[in-house]
Amino acid sequence: MVELPRELLPTDGRFGCGPSKVRGAQLEALATRGASLLGTSHRQAPIKNLVGSTREGLAELLRAPEGYEIILGNGGSTAFWDAAAFGLIERRSQHLAFGEFGSKFASAAKAPWLDAPDVRKTEPGTGGVCEPVEGVDVYAWPHNETSTGVSAPIARVTADPGALTVIDATSAAGGIDFDAAQADVYYFAPQKNLGSDGGLWYALVSPAAIERIERIAASDRYIPEFLSLKNAVDNSRLNQTLNTPAVATLLMLDEQVRWILDNGGLAWAGAKTAATSATLYAWAEVAAYTTPFVTNPADRSPVVVTIDFDESVDAAAIAKSLRENGIVDTEPYRKLGRNQLRIATFVSIDEDDVRRLIGAIEYTAERL
Ligand SMILES: *Cc1c(COP(=O)(O)O)cnc(C)c1O
Repeated sequence: MVELPRELLPTDGRFGCGPSKVRGAQLEALATRGASLLGTSHRQAPIKNLVGSTREGLAELLRAPEGYEIILGNGGSTAFWDAAAFGLIERRSQHLAFGEFGSKFASAAKAPWLDAPDVRKTEPGTGGVCEPVEGVDVYAWPHNETSTGVSAPIARVTADPGALTVIDATSAAGGIDFDAAQADVYYFAPQKNLGSDGGLWYALVSPAAIERIERIAASDRYIPEFLSLKNAVDNSRLNQTLNTPAVATLLMLDEQVRWILDNGGLAWAGAKTAATSATLYAWAEVAAYTTPFVTNPADRSPVVVTIDFDESVDAAAIAKSLRENGIVDTEPYRKLGRNQLRIATFVSIDEDDVRRLIGAIEYTAERL
């Protein structure tokens, strides 16, 4: 281990891609605002109002077009994939799989009651675009592929009438600006840019998506109650979930959404993450032993920066040494298997801390 001098220690050492840095003010809110909320019934007005506040705040943050709604449920984004297989895909989906998370949704869509999904796999570190195909009724890809650090533009796929554009925004929501009218479903869990804990999923859904959800729910397809999107729509409209939600997660999310809105909303957040990530990419391009893993600058994520190291430097040893200095979770996505560091530049992560992190990496690399 290389002991870092004080001036190279970030004020906050959390650079992980989820769970990710929770700001101090959010934790304080747990003790203050939370004192009358934590440990109280989710069927009573105070918690329903909190759920309502997260729904209103997210609709404002994401600039929900007319008729769009925020729905939520328990189980995180992974549960949403199964819910979508049961209640959103009518017959066949197309998936861009340019990393772990896009591939996972594709696997969830290999369900016996659906036609085999059309999966478009591309090399990790690159992006992709959907291609209209007759008979496909859901086009799905991640806004930001957290496993590789690639972000993809959000543009509606013009295909069969009624086909839905369904976006995994788990690591993008609240950190990347986009036009919500380009998607029918923009779903996420709150433990990344939104700086809360895991366990919940939220989705911004269009009127067309709600119509689809209702039509499938009214068909004779078997849908487990816990994974029913119709159930989620009905409960969300009442500011509740089917079963007990994590109240602390709701509260920290609500605080984060208000904080982003107070600072200027999604445009501010998008500009902030773009600036923070640019600092890292610029360094990775000039340092002697690093290169950005994502070669095409247009594909580079503003919220998850992946940096390859040449064989003269052991990235895993750097991550381990940083960890012992309190700088945590810079390891790459485990299944990518590269000599790499992966650094979150979510909206809560300060650019000054990223500058100190760069200094810390250089200091460690020179001494290991
Ligand atoms: C983290 C992540 C997920 C998984 O979220 P869970 O809430 O753990 O299910 C899915 N998709 C993307 C893009 C992610 O970054």
